[in-house]
Amino acid sequence: MDLRADLFIDGQWRPGSGGERFDVVDPSDLSTITGFAVATEADCMAAVDAAAAAQESWAATAPRTRSELLRAAYEVLTDEVETFAEIMVRENGKSWSDAMGEANYAKEFFRWFAEEAVRISGDYRLSPAGDKRIVVDRAPIGVSLLITPWNFPAAMATRKLGPALAAGCTTILKPARETPLTAAYMVDVLDRVGVPKGVVNLVTPVPTGPIVAKMLARPEVRKLSFTGSTEVGRELLRQCADGVISASMELGGNAPVVVLPGADLDLAVEGALLAKMRNGGSACTAANRFYVHSSLHDAFVERMAAQLADYRVGPGLDRDNQLGALVSVSERDKVAELVDSAVADGAEVVTGGHAMEGGAFYEATLLQGVRHGSRITETEIFGPVTTVVRFDEVDEAVRMANDTEFGLMAYVFGEEREAVAVARRLESGMVAVNRGVVSDPAAPFGGVKQSGLGREGGFDGIHEYLEEKYIALTA
Ligand code: ADP
Repeated sequence: MDLRADLFIDGQWRPGSGGERFDVVDPSDLSTITGFAVATEADCMAAVDAAAAAQESWAATAPRTRSELLRAAYEVLTDEVETFAEIMVRENGKSWSDAMGEANYAKEFFRWFAEEAVRISGDYRLSPAGDKRIVVDRAPIGVSLLITPWNFPAAMATRKLGPALAAGCTTILKPARETPLTAAYMVDVLDRVGVPKGVVNLVTPVPTGPIVAKMLARPEVRKLSFTGSTEVGRELLRQCADGVISASMELGGNAPVVVLPGADLDLAVEGALLAKMRNGGSACTAANRFYVHSSLHDAFVERMAAQLADYRVGPGLDRDNQLGALVSVSERDKVAELVDSAVADGAEVVTGGHAMEGGAFYEATLLQGVRHGSRITETEIFGPVTTVVRFDEVDEAVRMANDTEFGLMAYVFGEEREAVAVARRLESGMVAVNRGVVSDPAAPFGGVKQSGLGREGGFDGIHEYLEEKYIALTA
C-alpha cells in the first residue's frame, strides 16, 4: 500500500524543512509502519501563509463548486473504502469492523456538508421601527486550524474539514501524532478531486504545543476546532483568548448508562455492548459507568459478562477479530492501571482484567461492585472496560449520572416514557434512549459542562465556520 507520509502545504507534498521523521507504529505488533515528516515551526508558518493566501478566492468560489468537490471526495472515499479502513486499522489498531464503521461514518460528513454548502442562508427584513432594512449575511470566518485526536482519525477530521470547506474557509489540519497516515490519505483524496492549493494543508508539528501556540498567535487564524482532552482544550482556549479566536471544542466525556427497572434486558445488553465496545471503548461517547437497577443487576451483569468473555481479541487485519488493540502500550497501561485501582477500591472482576501480550491489547472486561466516586467512575477509561454500579432509586441514579464535570453523552434504557423523562434530566449534550449509538452527520454532536463548546454536524456544524454580517439598508 502506498502511504503518504509527508506534509501538505500550498498544494504540495513535502518533507519537513528539518528533514526529520517520527515513527508511526502499528499497535497490534508494535512494528514501525513508516516515518512521518516532522513539521518545523517554519513549515507550520508556511501552512498558515498558504491558507491565508487562498482564503479570499476560496470564499469567493461558488457554493455549488465547493459542494461538488466535497461530493467528489465522498465518492472517492466510497470507492476506496477498504483502503481507507485498512490505513486506520494499521496505525490505530482498531478492529476491521470498527474501521469500516468509521470509514463509512467519516465520508458521510463530506456528503452531508456537500448538501449544506448550497443552503447557507441569511436574513432580510424590515426593522421593528420601520426605519431600515436589516440584511444579515453569513460569511466564512477565515483560516481554520483543525486539531484532531487519534481515536477516530478519519471522522474527527471530516467532521471539521466538511463544514469548514463548505462554509468557504481554508484549513490547516493537525492530526494526532499516532495517526497521521489517515489524515494524509484524506488530504490526498481532497487534492485528487481538485480542491485548490492552499485550501487544505496538513502539518504534524513537533513539539506540538509550542508550535500550535505560534500558529494561534498568527492574526490570520480566525478559528480553532479541537477534539481532544479537556486538559489540552482548556489550554487552547486560553491561547485563543489572546487573539479572540473563535473556538469549537469537543472535549472529554464520562458517559453514564442508566438501566431503569422497566428496561428490556435484551435491548439493554445489545445497546450496552455497542455503547461500550464500539471502537474498543476508545471513544469520547463510550459508556463509562453503568448504573443498573437492582431488579436487573444480576441478570445484566451475567449476560454482559458472557458476551464480553466471548469477544475475539486480536489484530484488526484479521477481519474476524471483534476487539482490536489500543492505540499504544501506554494507553493500554493506563487502562490496566485504572482497573487495578478499581479493584483496590473494592470492585470485583467478573471477566477479563488483564493486558495481553504481543501488542497493545487489553481483554474485554467487566467489573461489578464498583463504587460511584471511585477513580474509574470519574476518569474517561478509553478502553474495553465495563464498570457496573447498582442502584435502587431512580433519583439516585440520575444524581450519580450527573455527578461529573463532563456532559457529552448519556444512555438510558427503560420503558420509553420513563426513559425520555430521565433523558431530559441528564446533563448531557446527547442522550441515547434504548440504543447504543447516536452519532449521525445530520445530528448536532457536542457536549455541555466541561465536555465542550459548539456543535459539529447537523445544521449547526457549518455555522461554527460562518460569521454573521449585518448590513443596514434604508427602508
Ligand atoms: P488524546 O487523549 O486524544 O491524545 P490530546 O488532547 O492529548 O488527547 O490530543 C488531541 C490532539 O491535540 C492531538 O492532535 C494532539 O497532538 C494535540 N495536542 C496535544 N497537546 C497539545 C497542545 N498543547 N497544543 C495543541 N495541540 C495539542
